[in-house]
Amino acid sequence: MIYDVVIVGGGPSGLSAAIYSSRARLKTLLIEKNGCGGQMTVTDLLENYPGFNDGINGVDLAVKLEYQAINFGTEIVYDEVTEIKSGKVKEVVTTNSTYKAKAVIIAAGTRVKEMDIPGEAKFKGKGVSSCATCDAPFYKGKKVLVIGGGDSAIQEAIYLAKFAKEVTILHRRNELRATKILQERMLLYPNISVMHNTVPKEIVGKEHIEEVIVTDLRTNKDKSLKVDGAFVFIGLVPNTLFPTGVNLDEQGYIITDENMRTSVDGIFACGDIRQKYLRQVVTATSDGAQAAVSAGRYIDNL
Ligand code: NAP
Repeated sequence: MIYDVVIVGGGPSGLSAAIYSSRARLKTLLIEKNGCGGQMTVTDLLENYPGFNDGINGVDLAVKLEYQAINFGTEIVYDEVTEIKSGKVKEVVTTNSTYKAKAVIIAAGTRVKEMDIPGEAKFKGKGVSSCATCDAPFYKGKKVLVIGGGDSAIQEAIYLAKFAKEVTILHRRNELRATKILQERMLLYPNISVMHNTVPKEIVGKEHIEEVIVTDLRTNKDKSLKVDGAFVFIGLVPNTLFPTGVNLDEQGYIITDENMRTSVDGIFACGDIRQKYLRQVVTATSDGAQAAVSAGRYIDNL
């Protein structure tokens, strides 16, 4: 059986592509590794996605998008893609099967970047986390460190501040990168403080994290911060983990044109995995719509 379109990844861009593709009556399969929704499922409240005056929980939006795609006829399988083979008929190889398609849309998103410091791997799940929404309740009345100065770090620090006694944000520069509205909101929480010009050097503990050694970049001196948890939000890396044959930029993001076409005929990419300026749910859903329409035109012209 040959699908018209196989979509790799069930985040907002992949689900939006699925809605547009199946509504155009293209036989559409979406392959997702874990559960649909991607990064937004670890977001407590999306308040900049248009149309929801009081914001919307990330999981709730993911479920709505998934149902919308299924209602228009998208098939969803849960499996891990290991390779995409190009040709007139493309093959999407997974751990358990191989799916054939006329067009493929890669929407595999990003994952949180690791710090690559001693102790990080050892204490993952034992005090080191990248999901405040998942783990904040474990830190009721405790001290936590948030590493990073972007939107994720500040948004998650605000969430953590509702549980933890003290939240210290560790940022490598003297100015935060996060949107001003998040910075303003952070000031409303007296238990959040920011330590500027400082980077983590090592995570230390026995069974569980006990302290983080940090370096003050102005003095080059190290000091120890006694904490119960460290939440890492130092940016994202693209999930271009499997061979696809498409051109990538120097950071590994897929290069596309504005119609989401990659360097390989009939393979499209959308959402956070592609080289772009603004990574937001709203730009991901927009990309997905465009990718599906481009895939439809490509199939029409075959
Ligand atoms: P980001 O915007 O890339 O910010 C990463 C932060 O980590 C920066 O402050 C960066 O410092 C710091 N950093 C990077 N490498 C580091 C290292 N090795 N050691 C210490 N600090 C390091 O990443 P993000 O916050 O995860 O956001 C990713 C994307 O999702 C962005 O486009 C963001 O706007 C979007 N997002 C949006 C929302 C929202 O709209 N509410 C929420 C979450 C995420 P520098 O500032 O010095 O570079």
